[in-house]
Amino acid sequence: MNSIDLDQTATSVRAATLDDLEATGALLRPGSEGYDAARAAWNLAVDLRPAAVAVPTSVEDVVAVVRAAAAAGLRVVTMSTGHGMGPLAEASLDDVVLVRLIALTGTTVDPETRTARVLGGTQWGEVVTAASAHGLTALHGSAPDVGVAGYVLGGGLSFFGRQHGIAANSVTAVEVVTADGSVVRATADEQPDLFWAVRGGGGGVGVVVALELALLPYADVFAGMLLWDRERAPEVVRAWTEWTRTAPESVTTSLRVMSFPPLPELPPFLSGRHVVVIDGAVLEDDDTAAAVLAPLRALEPEVDTFARIPSGQLLHVHMDPPAPVPAVSDHAVLGELDDDAVAAFLEQVGPGTTSGLMFAELRHLGGALARDAGAAGALRRFEGDYALYCIAVAPTPQAAVAGKAAAYQVVRAMARWSRVALLPTFTEARVDGSRFHDGEDWARLCEVRAALDPQGTFTTGVGG
Ligand SMILES: Cc1cc2nc3c(=O)[nH]c(=O)nc-3n(C[C@H](O)[C@H](O)[C@H](O)COP(=O)(O)OP(=O)(O)OC[C@H]3O[C@@H](n4cnc5c(N)ncnc54)[C@H](O)[C@@H]3O)c2cc1C
Repeated sequence: MNSIDLDQTATSVRAATLDDLEATGALLRPGSEGYDAARAAWNLAVDLRPAAVAVPTSVEDVVAVVRAAAAAGLRVVTMSTGHGMGPLAEASLDDVVLVRLIALTGTTVDPETRTARVLGGTQWGEVVTAASAHGLTALHGSAPDVGVAGYVLGGGLSFFGRQHGIAANSVTAVEVVTADGSVVRATADEQPDLFWAVRGGGGGVGVVVALELALLPYADVFAGMLLWDRERAPEVVRAWTEWTRTAPESVTTSLRVMSFPPLPELPPFLSGRHVVVIDGAVLEDDDTAAAVLAPLRALEPEVDTFARIPSGQLLHVHMDPPAPVPAVSDHAVLGELDDDAVAAFLEQVGPGTTSGLMFAELRHLGGALARDAGAAGALRRFEGDYALYCIAVAPTPQAAVAGKAAAYQVVRAMARWSRVALLPTFTEARVDGSRFHDGEDWARLCEVRAALDPQGTFTTGVGG
């Protein structure tokens, strides 16, 4: 792993211009070899065309590019994987240098303190693999190739979440290249405003070049999925929403109504089918977990993979796409779902419908996610009972328009049960950032951003 020596960083970086950086190959402009690969987002429907792309391999490289961009009056956008760049999909990036953190990766686990230190572009798969060698895991999301930094900047909703809270609040230290090109370490005691803002406040405060995380002591976990044909959706959706009302905090699950094209690379139980899937984790011993799941298993799923598995395998339970896809989405946070709400959801995506979506998902919130975490960052809690997330495959601009309309139609149909709040990591459109935070927190975040980045060098496209 690259180590970060802050004193050395401060003295060794010379003031390079963008032209200097281009001459050394550290910066790529349109038309140059490597520009297209470096700007390519995981979400292939997001076509970012910045004025230049840098692919730093060290913290010093990040400092040099941020200073050069600011000196040239350009803005800076950070991208680790491009899972969450939707808010910038239609923005002009003519005045933007994209800092692509694909080469600034690395993980070190300290089993004694149960912490991991990760570099700014590191993906969850690498962290979980390193942690699991010590019988540990982390508050990761559903996909191995999502970036740790982007996920915690947006809060982070994990299958451990109802028990252990918002992932951002497991961060214990961050190192950030700020708008003036300084490398600042922030913890609860040093630079507390920056530390607070990084944990759930979005990326507008700088480039996160490293962070430290508290790990969870689970070597294995009871987890898996249950699958039925979509014809069973009316009873399954009703049973799950009823079940989630009393499910213990040790359980975090998702329900998706999914549609798959007939593709040879898909397993037969998915290829060409409409299905309803419940998946997640139950942080209990086997007998208790079986008792908790009994009401769902009583619906006799066609596939039932729930069992005790190594905790590292939890990253594969949700069956997220293993490679980049073009996709568009819409999202809402919902309150309690009564019979009318279930009927409205089924009217959109239930048996016989042709929504055009790859899936419509309800993730169960509540528990520790809903409680005000004492020493929390900018996202102290998630409001609401469920996160609704609707996604459509969008291989062409026309398909993107149709897909967005299809996703919005489900969100609109659920408006009666919607809250104003949104979860940042599920929001792929430009929205008012105050929808992510409690009022006081939003005001504080705006102040912290203005103090750290008075020229507005950093932009994420989301949340104003
Ligand atoms: C298949 C899939 C599964 C997902 N599962 C979950 C899930 O289970 N739970 C959940 O909460 N979310 C989930 N997400 C959403 C995901 O967490 C967000 O899209 C997240 O923002 C992705 O972070 P990233 O770094 O991979 O993406 P990027 O698109 O690279 O970055 C996303 C945002 O973070 C900023 N950013 C990234 N890295 C840095 C950095 N080092 N410094 C400063 N800013 C940075 C970017 O500027 C951008 O604003 C999922 C998304 C997909 C596509």
